[in-house]
Amino acid sequence: MAFLTDKDRTYRTPEDICAHLGDDYARFEGAIVPPIFQNSLFVLPTETNGVTQTDYAYTRTSNPTVEIAERKIAALEGGDGALCFGSGVAAISSAILHFVRANSHVILVDSSYGCTLAFIKGYLHERFAVDFTLVEGSSVDEIAAAIRPETSLIYVESPSSLVFRMQDIAAIAELAKAHGIGTVIDNTYATPLHQQPLRHGIDIVCHTATKYMGGHSDILGGALIARREIIESIQNNERSLLGANIDPHQAWLLLRGLRTLPLRLKQHGESGRRVAEFLESHPKVEKVLYPGSATYPQPELFDRYLTGTNGLMSFIPRGTTEQAKRLVGLLHCFQNGCSWGGFESLAIYVGTPAYGNLVRIHVGLENVDTLIADLAQALERYDA
Ligand SMILES: *Cc1c(COP(=O)(O)O)cnc(C)c1O
Repeated sequence: MAFLTDKDRTYRTPEDICAHLGDDYARFEGAIVPPIFQNSLFVLPTETNGVTQTDYAYTRTSNPTVEIAERKIAALEGGDGALCFGSGVAAISSAILHFVRANSHVILVDSSYGCTLAFIKGYLHERFAVDFTLVEGSSVDEIAAAIRPETSLIYVESPSSLVFRMQDIAAIAELAKAHGIGTVIDNTYATPLHQQPLRHGIDIVCHTATKYMGGHSDILGGALIARREIIESIQNNERSLLGANIDPHQAWLLLRGLRTLPLRLKQHGESGRRVAEFLESHPKVEKVLYPGSATYPQPELFDRYLTGTNGLMSFIPRGTTEQAKRLVGLLHCFQNGCSWGGFESLAIYVGTPAYGNLVRIHVGLENVDTLIADLAQALERYDA
């Protein structure tokens, strides 16, 4: 658990936060990269040079390497503090549990991440009698109509990571507050660089660090950011009791990822826009789903909340399901895989009855002309 210090608050831009906040050279013998505190135990209390060191006791409670990551992430989101977890779903399930009791009711957006839906619809509903209402999410009236006396949480994911639907998060936060209901958002798609939901009144922001924050497809991690009393409560309950901590080495790799997050995101955004434009103008592509593109169906929400684009999008190629599936196999630079946010380009067929023959692609850091040529040759061949 780490909270921002007064000094931390003097770092104001994402670039400066990622490069320097919390690195505290004087504390770490001048190391430009703070060391990994790869230990479970801190013995205490010890008198050293007249200073009693009682800050750390046990890594499940707090660890200096983990705390640097938490402070950087808290500053990027504009929260009081942050907690890191061993995965994105660990952060998300902890945030949900903070607001849910037996027999309470949850409203959640139906395009949310699969494990989030499974946690509420399957696990909490079936085992703990938590009730839920799925909403499409683009209308605040739809959400207002779903509120019951026992509703304790409204859960949103905006934009969502398959069909990229957005919700009016400021209006939803205001509605929730008026009814004493908690709000949680999965902000992984936007990253804190492109959307800061706490500033719009959302109570808890969740991220998986496995995607853009880590950025190298070599760690699993998660984080949540909130005001002080929520962070303290989750630290003392869900994180301490379920113990889904990030380990110090993963936190150190997360820090390395964060250092280049602003730069990487800029490139993913630029290349993503080029690829989306290519797909939108291609005769064999029926539809492109990409926040910020010319055909994106929620331009007002995009303009209101997001300050940038990235490399993740879906498209529907013309033709049959079999043809759409084959298209992914015809790509050479895009590897066939389900994650995203790393350096590498990925493509996967994720068609569903509700959404159609979706192919989701992640535009990585390879040369964008190479990627467009790869898509062009696959689209050329796929229905041959
Ligand atoms: C991947 C993902 C998650 C889950 O993160 P893990 O680190 O794999 O647990 C949650 N939300 C979104 C939007 C994701 O893409």
